[in-house]
Amino acid sequence: MAACIFCKIIRGEIPSMKIFESEKTLAFLDIGPLSKGHSLVIPKFHGAKLHDIPDDQLSEVLSVAKRIAVAQGVQDYNILQNNGRIAHQVVDHVHFHMIPKPNEKEGLGIEWPTQ
Ligand code: 5GP
Repeated sequence: MAACIFCKIIRGEIPSMKIFESEKTLAFLDIGPLSKGHSLVIPKFHGAKLHDIPDDQLSEVLSVAKRIAVAQGVQDYNILQNNGRIAHQVVDHVHFHMIPKPNEKEGLGIEWPTQ
């Protein structure tokens, strides 16, 4: 879809830190990470909500999220998909968050901006 920012990332029109790509699936780092390594895994097929995406276009998403966590050495993490505005979905292209949960020693692993 022409105006969709994640479709633009797929087409390379918006820069991103890509970490996995196949025919059906793309994964890249979230621009506003909640913790170090926060990644987004998306089907390349454009659809705003989960029920807009054919099952075969979703088949790799979970295994890619898992593989990213393994590759990052992350033991504890959330896989999250916000579906619809009331569920806090902001970008209308289905995406799955892989959000590492750091241990107490490591903290969040990212610097928060201070004013
Ligand atoms: P949602 O609330 O829709 O589930 O989350 C959308 C996510 O997309 C947010 O975590 C946000 O930081 C991320 N995001 C929005 N625009 C961009 C972008 O242009 N590039 C990247 N890498 N992430 C984005």
